Amino acid sequence: MNILLDTHTHTIASTHAYSTVMEMAAQAKKSGLEAIAITDHGPAIPDGAHPWHFQNLKAVPREIDGVKILYGAELNILDLEGNVDLEDAVLKNLDVVNASIHKPCYKDFEAEDHTSAYLKVVSHPLVDVICHSGSPRFSYDYERVIEMAKKNNKLIEINNHSFYVRKASIPNCKKIAEICKEKGVGIVVSSDAHIAFELGEYSDALDMLKEISFPEKLIMNRSLNAFEEFMNNKGKKLFQWGY
Ligand SMILES: [Zn+2]
Ligand SMILES: [Zn+2]
Repeated sequence: MNILLDTHTHTIASTHAYSTVMEMAAQAKKSGLEAIAITDHGPAIPDGAHPWHFQNLKAVPREIDGVKILYGAELNILDLEGNVDLEDAVLKNLDVVNASIHKPCYKDFEAEDHTSAYLKVVSHPLVDVICHSGSPRFSYDYERVIEMAKKNNKLIEINNHSFYVRKASIPNCKKIAEICKEKGVGIVVSSDAHIAFELGEYSDALDMLKEISFPEKLIMNRSLNAFEEFMNNKGKKLFQWGY
């Protein structure tokens, strides 16, 4: 199974990541990817990118080395109300809006149940994907949230990075994928690369999906075309912003 668009990657704009846009594009080409989304961390997390990073993304060419570049962000979900850390005026220009809970900037990290945060986020008109949501620490009602994601044309991410940096999430990632399969909800498989060499590396996530016979047609980033079609069907056009 090929995943030709990596929808979740970080550059040196997040200081705990280590490659430039140029290095990412060069490696993406080597790895045979058609496209990558540059989705640096939102400003609320310590060492996330400054809001200006997102406001000026159009400075990055739409194609480098034959690899298409999508503009994006990994928003921080801030609280149980599902607030996020970039303004709609910025988000409306981005091709891929990911949203995740990260403990250092999530006010309600001590709550037992995080369903309300995720329900709110999958109802946000400008969010596209909820990311690495399998953490046992931030558990939520998968059935309810995934049903709402379906209703609102949101995607659920299966994050390859979780298989080695968030190992406690692995059983939940499988559960989430099974529910997406059962309900016919689209997913994306991403590397969450923090250095260029990790781009296009999805082997653990793909092994798990294979194990549960996850249908390829529900993996919306299997190609740039498939992703674009999914986005267009929900009324969002890619590659609109730029010089
Ligand atoms: Zn994250
Ligand atoms: Zn990330």
